[in-house]
Amino acid sequence: MLIRKLVNGISISILILLISLGFIGVTSWWMISIVIVPWLMITVYGVCNIDSQYFVKSYCKADKYQKKAIAITFDDGPHENTVAILELLKAYNAKATFFCIGKQIEKYPDILKKIEEEGHLIGNHTYSHSKTIDLYNTKKFSKEILDTDHAIASIISKKPQLFRPPYGVTNPDIARALKITKHKVIGWNKRSFDTSTKSTTKVLKRITKNLTSGDIILLHDTQIKTRETLEQLLVYLKKHSFETVDVATLLGIEAYQVAGDIKNN
Ligand SMILES: [Zn+2]
Repeated sequence: MLIRKLVNGISISILILLISLGFIGVTSWWMISIVIVPWLMITVYGVCNIDSQYFVKSYCKADKYQKKAIAITFDDGPHENTVAILELLKAYNAKATFFCIGKQIEKYPDILKKIEEEGHLIGNHTYSHSKTIDLYNTKKFSKEILDTDHAIASIISKKPQLFRPPYGVTNPDIARALKITKHKVIGWNKRSFDTSTKSTTKVLKRITKNLTSGDIILLHDTQIKTRETLEQLLVYLKKHSFETVDVATLLGIEAYQVAGDIKNN
């Protein structure tokens, strides 16, 4: 965020200087692109990469957890496929984190309840997960988060403190919305691309390549093949003595809001 202020400050200063010199004929107008093009490139990189910390502070890997452990996170549920995922996690004594969508919670409230009852964590992943959600203004985006908080709290009587932005996209409006809702942003450092890769072997290779303690893995419980990927992953983790813990345990942070925060929302 400090880098963003610095980039914006330097870009605006050079731009003002070039425009001023342009008026007295010292510089050519095309030179303005020397400032605008890199600024645009840096900004787009910041928008698309959650680990860049460009707009919001995000947790993408843990570096202080004492044991050899990783966190598996599932986005976009609850879904009918979530049930098979839960059975598998139970069989391997693994704990995970589910970033849930509000409208899916309304569709599958019993599955959300089951996630919590089985000792996994629930995080907020917006209400609609609309394809155009990154264009929402601050007010509309914060409503997405708060409506999902309420949907979750109505079932498990706890409001999540953890939030994952859809597609991992962040921007100034999302940053402002998060200042209002006070959620912590959870990213990842192991993206599986399980929604776009057909081969589970490829997905597994992508996850396990250079896997180290503290890594946060992104999967989707909406995918039917995720069960197969997860089973192979859990076998790999057991073989290599990794513990599978929820993301709040791995990061040493609170997963849910305390009573005082709930009253204020
Ligand atoms: Zn998502």
